Amino acid sequence: MSQPKSLPRPSILSIEPYVGGESKIPGVNRIVKLSSNEGAFGVPPGAQAAYIAAAQELHRYPDGHATALREAIGRRFGVDPARVVCGNGSDELIQHLILAYGGEGTELVMSAHGFVMYDISGRYAGCRVIKVPERNLTADVDAMLAAVGPRTRLVFLANPNNPTGSCLPASEVARLREGLPAEVLLVLDSAYAEYVTRPDYDPGTALVEAGTNTVMTRTFSKIFGLGGMRLGWAYAPVHVVDILNRVRGPFNVNSAAQAAGIAALAEPGWVEKSVAHNTEWRATLSEALRGIGITVHPSEGNFILADFGTAERASAADAALRARGVIVRAMGAYSLPQCLRITIGTAEECRMVQEALTEFMRGAAAHG
Ligand SMILES: *Cc1c(COP(=O)(O)O)cnc(C)c1O
Repeated sequence: MSQPKSLPRPSILSIEPYVGGESKIPGVNRIVKLSSNEGAFGVPPGAQAAYIAAAQELHRYPDGHATALREAIGRRFGVDPARVVCGNGSDELIQHLILAYGGEGTELVMSAHGFVMYDISGRYAGCRVIKVPERNLTADVDAMLAAVGPRTRLVFLANPNNPTGSCLPASEVARLREGLPAEVLLVLDSAYAEYVTRPDYDPGTALVEAGTNTVMTRTFSKIFGLGGMRLGWAYAPVHVVDILNRVRGPFNVNSAAQAAGIAALAEPGWVEKSVAHNTEWRATLSEALRGIGITVHPSEGNFILADFGTAERASAADAALRARGVIVRAMGAYSLPQCLRITIGTAEECRMVQEALTEFMRGAAAHG
């Protein structure tokens, strides 16, 4: 007898499950994981201590408003804590925004190689997800504006974008906002904001504060080294804060994450050290790979996108890295199968990548 079976809404069956960065290679003990853009320096020591201390109070429900954390975010980033909403990773906030403002009969606009969670959550909500072609792997503001129609409710821009590393200057983001109908919600995902070195950048704070219908999302998963804690935040106009506070779980950010987040923000010199290291090694590794004939796209994040020309070559390079225990990210899910995304790790890890790919390119040249 066949088992009874419920069916989800049809759009949900079009979702391809998210595939995260791998962390194991069978038979290899020492792994260098450069597949998920986690920071190069591990967990901030103060955050680790705060996490352990939080174990004493695990029987208590967390503060459902994450008040102390929002105040710490406010002080650190110069934002109004009343307009900050914390989430179980910024992915959670992205999903809530899309479910709350999108849905069947609406459209969500993103760039062709934009962060994949917008597509997944958009389909979950039942939105038609429109992926707008890019120029030189960079979001094209004019093309995105041209894709906006009467059904468009949400426009998503990761800036810098993962996986391309490309970044729009503040003037281009402002031009995108100005060109959108006022009632379309613009979500600026600034997961990599701290790593940006170009001077004409704004993570979105200014547009949120200018009173436009714009939300900025941020995360503790990258420079703050807390991917395993699941902690992110949104800075939003009051009317959006109100909606997020209605739909989120009342205790969506657990007590250990709140404690670790506050401590990570207070870690002396952490961001400065991480940015200095990333700026140096992003440039060094990019130049080194270009020097051996690999196209490397300019990146403002803590990762680089290396283009091997063909999918076959990219997967052969991936295999060569794996043979040395180095795991990077294949890019098939982003329609970039000829590319590998490589996180900037420690100096030693960057050298391992360089050596493995140097040997690989020599072999490739010898074999034609
Ligand atoms: C890593 C990343 C995030 C962060 O997600 P969390 O849920 O906060 O871990 C969000 N957006 C982009 C573009 C990212 O690369």
